[in-house]
Amino acid sequence: AAVLPTPVKAPQLIAFNRPLAEELGLDVEGMDDERLAAIFSGNAVPQGAEPLAMAYAGHQFGNFVPQLGDGRAILLGEVIDRQGRRRDIQLKGSGPTRFSRRGDGRAALGPVLREYIVSEAMFALGIPATRALAAVTTGERVQREIGLPGGVFTRVAASHIRVGTFQFFAAREDTEALKALSDYVIDRHYPEARQSETPYLAMLQAIAERQCDLICRWLMVGFIHGVMNTDNMAVSGETIDFGPCAFMDEYHPNKVFSSIDAQGRYAYNNQPGIAQWNIARLAECLIPLLDEDQDKAVDMANGVLADFAKAFPKRWISGMRTKLGLQTEAEGDEQLVQDLLALMQRSEVDYTLTFRRLCDAASDNAEPFRGMFIDLTAADEWLERWRNRAAQESRSGEERADAMRAVNPAIIPRNHRIEEVIAAAVEDNDFAPFHEMIKATARPFEELPEFSVYMQAPMNHERVFRTFCGT
Ligand code: AMP
Ligand code: MG
Repeated sequence: AAVLPTPVKAPQLIAFNRPLAEELGLDVEGMDDERLAAIFSGNAVPQGAEPLAMAYAGHQFGNFVPQLGDGRAILLGEVIDRQGRRRDIQLKGSGPTRFSRRGDGRAALGPVLREYIVSEAMFALGIPATRALAAVTTGERVQREIGLPGGVFTRVAASHIRVGTFQFFAAREDTEALKALSDYVIDRHYPEARQSETPYLAMLQAIAERQCDLICRWLMVGFIHGVMNTDNMAVSGETIDFGPCAFMDEYHPNKVFSSIDAQGRYAYNNQPGIAQWNIARLAECLIPLLDEDQDKAVDMANGVLADFAKAFPKRWISGMRTKLGLQTEAEGDEQLVQDLLALMQRSEVDYTLTFRRLCDAASDNAEPFRGMFIDLTAADEWLERWRNRAAQESRSGEERADAMRAVNPAIIPRNHRIEEVIAAAVEDNDFAPFHEMIKATARPFEELPEFSVYMQAPMNHERVFRTFCGT
């Protein structure tokens, strides 16, 4: 549905991602901050843009809602980037649309900063995700539980088509629209599926494979999305809709941060199962397109789900081997990993730092790793097993350490640092901590002294237990 952003009172530019603008081929030459703030607040719509809000449906915490949609987001338009890829540019917090229901269509500054930081951190970590192009303050307040300064976030996505977009048409039994949408998704994201004799099945399979890869990457870095509703899962395979997301500090497989996830549906270790559940909802939508014979179509869909269930553990153990610096497969690797995780859980050690200190152990400095554990005997036993296993391979310790340091980040966007950034911005209008954190999280695999504060796990009084939605 066509809709224009609602202008805001006094937009001010907080951040503009110039390298990304460059990649997109945006013509921002000679634009000052005032002009950029006008564009990225929605006050000035770029020439030729025909902004719109998209409809979608979705399962929210397992309950189907037939009509959701961009309630506080407006798609400015698409661009073809320097590499020829089509990318969406979307404003978030730019005013009401016909999908706003009771919402105000606005965003508070805090969640805008969080999404900016985490999107760019994901990019730096090599994890597919929507990107942050700009953030502005609006000069207006939004009413939440308390009044808060407002912001507008501009994100860039491979597309904003979600599992829920398919559900929107399936709920209306609009098979023609489903077919048109599927053809569009194939052309835009999975052109190789066109070569298949069953292109819609090939598309479903490809979407499932990308989700499998994505969720695995999340688990590897301790990321918890927080709201994996079907409307928050992009069929492109990018991480999207960073709401109450968080990277865990101390390891626990059932970790939950989101204040609205009381049942732990979207807990850390539940994410692969939930992704599969979401893919099952997508598969249901596609049944009418898969085959004229419904039973055959159901079998095809089930095949994709069975493949996902088989592929995930393989993908996971392969990721974990890489984290442990192992290049080959050996019997007992799974146990080696599980035993480390169990040890980590018992000692409540920091997930990120444990793996990072294990890199040091590969280059003969095991003390930092050992020092993390309460049960030293168990830690030593495990180290011994890992060393013996690694010794079966030809890499030197230094080579192994280097390879491990390229996959085990030193810096993740830690919750307590994000909270500090938000507090400084919201309470003191101070954006220096935000900019500093953006710099630090852009180099996750380095241990630069100037960013050491971003490597540290939270002290007890700094720990964050709950994160909240963007709304
Ligand atoms: P989320 O789970 O944060 O992605 O949002 C779920 C749904 O609520 C989406 O359809 C949003 O567009 C809508 N929504 C969230 N916040 C607002 C708001 N402030 N105004 C209008 N709609 C909103
Ligand atoms: Mg959403």
